[in-house]
Amino acid sequence: MFKALVVSKDEESGKTSATVEEMDADRLPAGDVTVAVEYSTVNYKDGLCIGPGGGLVRTYPHVPGIDFAGTVEASEDDRYKPGDKVVLTGWRVGEVHWGGYAQKARVKADWLVPLPDGLDTRQAMAVGTAGFTAMLAVMALEDHGLKAGDGPVLVTGAAGGVGSVATAILAHLGHEVAGVTGRPETAEYLKSLGASRIVAREEINEPVKRPLEAETWAACVDAVGGAMLARVLGQMSYGGSVAAVGLAGGAALPATVIPFLLRGVNLLGIDSVMQPFDNRVRAWDRIARDLPMDKLEAMVQPAGLSDLPQLGADILKGQVKGRVVVDVN
Ligand code: NDP
Repeated sequence: MFKALVVSKDEESGKTSATVEEMDADRLPAGDVTVAVEYSTVNYKDGLCIGPGGGLVRTYPHVPGIDFAGTVEASEDDRYKPGDKVVLTGWRVGEVHWGGYAQKARVKADWLVPLPDGLDTRQAMAVGTAGFTAMLAVMALEDHGLKAGDGPVLVTGAAGGVGSVATAILAHLGHEVAGVTGRPETAEYLKSLGASRIVAREEINEPVKRPLEAETWAACVDAVGGAMLARVLGQMSYGGSVAAVGLAGGAALPATVIPFLLRGVNLLGIDSVMQPFDNRVRAWDRIARDLPMDKLEAMVQPAGLSDLPQLGADILKGQVKGRVVVDVN
């Protein structure tokens, strides 16, 4: 038997509810590796899957948790053996496949990544999908020429999970970081992560009036999308790149193509879910190297399985600061 957060759906009302339940191991889904989960975390998508589903969950009862880290308990795949430390993000685990809000998970070996040297399972979940995606965004900006000294790098949704990790990594790499936040009370926190400038959300969240504004940002990690992303495009320096990661502020892009045509601005799409294995290993290695662990620790809010219904609702309202680490045991 093991404990899990189970989301059930009432067929008549269509309402979902999430409770911690004891479960028999034979209810685990098919897969070739069984993992004793140690830690999981809370991302925006987890908020959807703990709550109404957001169109991501196909069948109920469901065990959410898009990320987990733990120790291999049993493996039918040569790449893993009992005792190996592993991390999983993406592949729609926690959405269409049972996820990490449980003391045990059974998954495909292809979805796992061996834990990199220098990170333990708790730190891996302090990073989670949000931090992994922040690293992918920074790597994409670098692949398009960004280097320290190029000028200020903007991070939107800065006090959230993706934004906090992006801020810490970029500052560690020697970039001047400006963080956009709608929560002025997080200014000291963002500065402690390495942001040298705080931009108020309302300053930059207005519809585009002029397609080009002053060239202000060498690059941007954007977790917000919507009107904010449209506005940022017109503020980019010549040849600068924006890594589009999220849609916390909306999925529309009410922009013009002028920044692309007259300033050679690049808009880079970032997906963490279907990343190929080799790039996952590259990103986790970079995280172990370029994300200072004291900064990561400063982002962490600890939680247990029973806290998840509340935390899921909080993250959907943009009220979670930094990263939540869920100890499932
Ligand atoms: P969080 O909720 O932790 O962070 C989002 C932040 O965005 C909030 O903390 C807030 O920051 C800001 N924000 C929230 N609502 C609004 C709004 N209406 N307008 C402007 N800013 C807003 O979520 P995550 O960091 O985990 O994820 C961020 C986004 O990235 C989500 O949309 C998520 O779905 C997406 N994502 C995409 C991935 C991919 O593979 N492409 C992977 C992971 C996440 P502040 O308070 O500082 O203003």
